[in-house]
Parts: sequence; structure tokens; C-alpha cells
Amino acid sequence: MDISVIVPLYNEEESLPELFAWIKRVMEANHFSYEVIFVNDGSTDHSWQVIEHLAEEADQVKGIKFRRNYGKSPALYCGFKEAQGDVVITMDADLQDDPDAVDDMVREYLQGAEIVYGVRDNRDTDTAFKRGTAHAFYSLMKWLGTENVPDHADYRLMSRAALSALSQYKESNLFLRGLVPSLGFKTAKVYYKRGTRVAGESK
Ligand code: UDP
Ligand code: MG
Repeated sequence: MDISVIVPLYNEEESLPELFAWIKRVMEANHFSYEVIFVNDGSTDHSWQVIEHLAEEADQVKGIKFRRNYGKSPALYCGFKEAQGDVVITMDADLQDDPDAVDDMVREYLQGAEIVYGVRDNRDTDTAFKRGTAHAFYSLMKWLGTENVPDHADYRLMSRAALSALSQYKESNLFLRGLVPSLGFKTAKVYYKRGTRVAGESK
């Protein structure tokens, strides 16, 4: 089984080497074959040079470069189109999405889930304001009729079947975390501890 990890990033030069080293460690420990697709969303720092350097060192690294900043969703979509794996895992660049949870995600997939949500097991690292507004947002979205998974952002595994269902939506600027639960596939959740960013600031 091949895994494609898709990392959207905007000005993350400091996090990328540590992120790749960690992903590599997890993949090798579990004997997974993998590729990591870095989608550089118009960074103005040295992120692209860092990606080029990582790609020289490791065949598993692929890079896509946007001419300007389009936002996280378009970056994820671009990664989906290029992914070669049997499953894709979308992961933030700042190590807030703990790469160690990949193992559990793959296990859920092997047990039949087509979509596996990474759900943070606490919000201790958030301010009270961020916690309050996040939960108000989930309630509002639910009230408006959009399904969503509380405390899950974009850390998730999707099978080829789930990706192909998603690709039938033709909208270009999608609210992925609202759309994915509506696809109707068997899902599972994996809990992980969400830390603070390793470097840089929230975009
Ligand atoms: N990101 C991106 N394009 C943007 C903004 C963010 O690709 O225009 C990436 C960012 O580099 C990170 C991920 O999306 O890998 C999540 O962003 P961030 O950590 O800023 O969000 P937060 O964790 O604060 O909600
Ligand atoms: Mg973050």
C-alpha cells in the first residue's frame, strides 16, 4: 500500500526539515511506502529552497509551487490531483498534526474506513477565545445544515474511492471539512494531541 502525504504550506521554512524527518521516521518504522507532496502556496520566505533541498536528498519528496498565495484548500486540491498513493493523508506543515497518528489512521483504513479523521483530544493549547469561537463555529455550521466533525480540522486520511467521490464536486473553493463528511463513506476517528506550532505563526 502506498501513502501520499499532502502538506499545504505558506511561509514554513523553519518547520519543513523537522516535519519531513518525523514523517520519514514514522513511515520507516511502520514499513510504509510513501511520498510527501509539499504544496508551496506562494510562500515569500525560503520554503521553496528548503523543499528543493529535501527533494535532492530523498526520492519521496515532491514539490508543487504556486505563483501566488491561493489559500489552504486550493493547495490541498492540487495535492490530491498529483497524489499517486492508495490513500492520501493531509497534514499541516507546523507539526500541529502529530505525524505519529498516521499509524492509527492507516490501521483504521485497513479495517475498512474510507475516511479517517484526526481529532484533537484537547484544546489546552488554545486561548479561551479560540476555544469559544471554534465551538460556536461548529454549532453555527451544523445549524446551517453542514455536517462537520468537532475538533477536526484538515488532518485526515482519504481512500481513492473517497477522493474520487470528492472530485465530482466542481466548485473551486471548497469548504473541505464540511464536504468530506457528506460523502457518505464509512469513517473512523483517531485522537491525537495537538501541540503548539514548532515555528512561525498562524496564517
Ligand atoms: N496554509 C497555506 N496557505 C495559507 C495559509 C495556511 O497553505 O494561505 C498552510 C499553513 O502553512 C499550514 C496549514 O495551512 O501548513 C495550517 O495553517 P495554520 O497553521 O496557519 O492554521 P492554524 O493551525 O493556526 O489554524
Ligand atoms: Mg497550525
